[in-house]
Amino acid sequence: MPGTVTIAGAGIGGLTAALTLARRGFSVTVLERAVALDEIGAGIQLSPNASRILVDLGLGDALATPAVVPEAMVVRSATTGGTLASAELGEAVARRYGAPWWVIHRADLLAILAAACRSESAIHIETGVTVTGLALASDGVRLDLSRDGERNSATTEALVGADGLRSAVRAALGDGAPPDFRRRVAWRATMPMEAVPQALAGGRLGLWLGADAHCVHYPLRTGRLFNIVVLLKADAPVEGWRAPGDPALLARRLAGWPAALREVVARVDDWQCWSLADRPAWFGPERGPVTLMGDAAHPMLPFVAQGGAMAIEDAAVLADEAATTPDDLAAAFRRFAARRKARVARVQALARRNGAIYHLKGPAALARDLAIRVMGGGIVASQDWIYGWRP
Ligand SMILES: Cc1cc2nc3c(=O)[nH]c(=O)nc-3n(C[C@H](O)[C@H](O)[C@H](O)COP(=O)(O)OP(=O)(O)OC[C@H]3O[C@@H](n4cnc5c(N)ncnc54)[C@H](O)[C@@H]3O)c2cc1C
Repeated sequence: MPGTVTIAGAGIGGLTAALTLARRGFSVTVLERAVALDEIGAGIQLSPNASRILVDLGLGDALATPAVVPEAMVVRSATTGGTLASAELGEAVARRYGAPWWVIHRADLLAILAAACRSESAIHIETGVTVTGLALASDGVRLDLSRDGERNSATTEALVGADGLRSAVRAALGDGAPPDFRRRVAWRATMPMEAVPQALAGGRLGLWLGADAHCVHYPLRTGRLFNIVVLLKADAPVEGWRAPGDPALLARRLAGWPAALREVVARVDDWQCWSLADRPAWFGPERGPVTLMGDAAHPMLPFVAQGGAMAIEDAAVLADEAATTPDDLAAAFRRFAARRKARVARVQALARRNGAIYHLKGPAALARDLAIRVMGGGIVASQDWIYGWRP
């Protein structure tokens, strides 16, 4: 008989897992540290391996409204301004993978996931509750919680730690090591599409490769918003979380870049900065009805745009295994970890490799550009192993 599962964290991973588990007959409690389920004003790409799972959960229509299907991915050199490759993302992706490539505002994605959870009587979301510790008990897992600063405890049959990069569940399970800063900082901003120069406006997803820097941009909210992320090599992490970025510093770093990009960058004055980090993939000690998922288990650099997608894939596999042995969730979680380990580690490694390749300079950059030109429109299909994945 499916029982009760507690999920720590109501991010993309935690909310998707709540839905996949509830659809398999489990009762789910989601404990979220934040007092409200809100998100920062930036976008996320949902490649077909992830969108397929959300469509199967019945969220296709709700997501298709605010999401944009980019016409194409255009890879350009930030040194010469020239196009290196262009791959169709609309019909071609739908035909090849049977699911769309969406770009969507994170706030819209989170709101749609949360609304779907709230419409399920088997899912209960509690905000303002932080999981601070845990211990395996004979009847499940004992949780230490903090509610409005008040400490108390609770017992659950099984626990899924979906509490992100600095996971308290991961620390309580024995890995309290800090994330590894990967000498890259992401600068993020959104702006109205009408403020974007003609050369960059419109429905395409742009990737610009420069020396020690690259840039990704795409439309959001039916094309009304322009989302831009500039990723810079950095010797030290930025202070704090969502640190404000100095536009003058960014302008200096992109001084040699094509005019249209410099123009967009100059029009933004509220950049938010993230230090980029990852950690070795680890799902927990594989004992007892406890597991990690999403960024808590395998945070990755955003250079394949797959961190959220991997959390969504985790949710599908987790529920699949839980439904196979609902009376033995410890065994189900061990099988879940075994099924996910190699794939997430491979994507993490690719993200790290891309981080180096995207920022090459001199002759190495010329060789990279040539290789991308040769790949041309096949640049998306070259990653079939990522986008063609099915649970
Ligand atoms: C610049 C950038 C661009 C990216 N672009 C993409 C992209 O295009 N596509 C993609 O797929 N991925 C992308 N990612 C990665 C993606 O954002 C993450 O992988 C994804 O958000 C992970 O989801 P999660 O639910 O595992 O963790 P999180 O989103 O971190 O959610 C964790 C939740 O747990 C809560 N929490 C934390 N601690 C506790 C606690 N102790 N108790 C209770 N609750 C707690 C948090 O408040 C949060 O709500 C990008 C990342 C960055 C930095």
